[in-house]
Amino acid sequence: MRATIISIGDELIHGQCVDTNSAWLSERLTGLGVKVARHITLGDSVEDISTCLKDELTKSQLLVVTGGLGPTLDDVTREAIAGAIDQPLQQDDDALQQIQSFFARRERPMAESNRRQALIPKTCTLIPNRLGTAPGIRFDGRDVILFALPGVPAEMKALVEEFMVPLVRSRIGESCTRSRVLLTYGVSESAIGEQISELMRRGRNPSVGTTASRAIISIRIVARGTNDAEADRLTQQDTEEVRRILGVTVYGEKDETLQSVVGRLLLQSEKTISTAESCTGGLLAKCLTDVPGSSRYFREGYITYSNEAKCKLLGIPEALIEKHGAVSEAVARGMAVGCLTKTGCDFALAITGIAGPGGACPPEKPIGLVFLALASQPAGTIDPVAVKRVLLGDTLTREEVRDRATKAALNLLRLRLLPC
Ligand code: ATP
Repeated sequence: MRATIISIGDELIHGQCVDTNSAWLSERLTGLGVKVARHITLGDSVEDISTCLKDELTKSQLLVVTGGLGPTLDDVTREAIAGAIDQPLQQDDDALQQIQSFFARRERPMAESNRRQALIPKTCTLIPNRLGTAPGIRFDGRDVILFALPGVPAEMKALVEEFMVPLVRSRIGESCTRSRVLLTYGVSESAIGEQISELMRRGRNPSVGTTASRAIISIRIVARGTNDAEADRLTQQDTEEVRRILGVTVYGEKDETLQSVVGRLLLQSEKTISTAESCTGGLLAKCLTDVPGSSRYFREGYITYSNEAKCKLLGIPEALIEKHGAVSEAVARGMAVGCLTKTGCDFALAITGIAGPGGACPPEKPIGLVFLALASQPAGTIDPVAVKRVLLGDTLTREEVRDRATKAALNLLRLRLLPC
């Protein structure tokens, strides 16, 4: 079943309201095994909506429209549907009665304009709305069904669950869909795309796709089966295959974060961590302590932003900073070792870097240059592989550099904590 979702409203076109309806509908319909082919957003123009509906009625098996069913003159969805299917609007007495009783139950007078909401195009049926005054409209064409639903998200969702989901289920039979999302860090989306290209082949079941957001690449696996067990088996198979191909690049699933995974690994290994930060200004400590229960492994966080603080709090020799600069491998190493010595934790994670955008940057120290160091007990030693120089990119904003640096540090710790 191929579906098109159309959201209507000037407020969407003008950017005053974010179209969450389409996202929710897409996820719900995809979960039912419907192929959502298009999202369309239109302003409150009868002509535009009508033309679009006419076109989409010939292309889709399911057309879901949200918004524009209110009582005011700029709510024109019902007129547009009437135009698209070439039927006159007529009053539905049941609808009028439902709207009247909606107001009566709240002991409020009904405005004359609410009568408009009882108008529906001939040959359409009305979808009662118990949560609001805007009833939905259903049109059954030869090969297509159209649902026009109120724009208010809670009302739209209630009508979808009550009226649309059962219909979709009965139309597409016992088809069942399962999805899993794997999360990766440290490899680009294009590199991942190449490594799992066979799984991402178009038309394959399960379908596998990637999305990038703030340096995290998500891999979504959606499987269709004739029953739950088959859909589960197919998603499980692909999940295992992606994990086999990408290895430790996959750090988790669904809602997991690098910090929640690190937290779990620290708990499992009964280890503690402290942090020493410069350019991230405490963001690393914040992320680690965002995780509920982090007091069981997080001890202290130093924000040593100035050179003096690095010397005073972490015992870094002034001469070392003078010789190498605050953003250097030597200073990152010194921060981690100093933090480890001070706190007596099992691990100390340090970050120093150039977040930009200001400051004179010599070519060898561009914006986005970050040094990470991970020190571990016994005190004073540092695993050489745990000191890392990363070039995050000189076009990133300050906020992005700090975010990426924090993620890179968390990943360094994660890799260290993974069982060999
Ligand atoms: P009502 O009569 O209850 O207003 P309606 O169908 O006329 O229903 P609209 O007037 O189009 O709905 O939208 C009502 C409100 O619902 C909007 O002001 C907006 O806050 C929200 N809304 C509308 N469309 C969307 C959408 N696509 N995504 C998220 N919210 C939306």
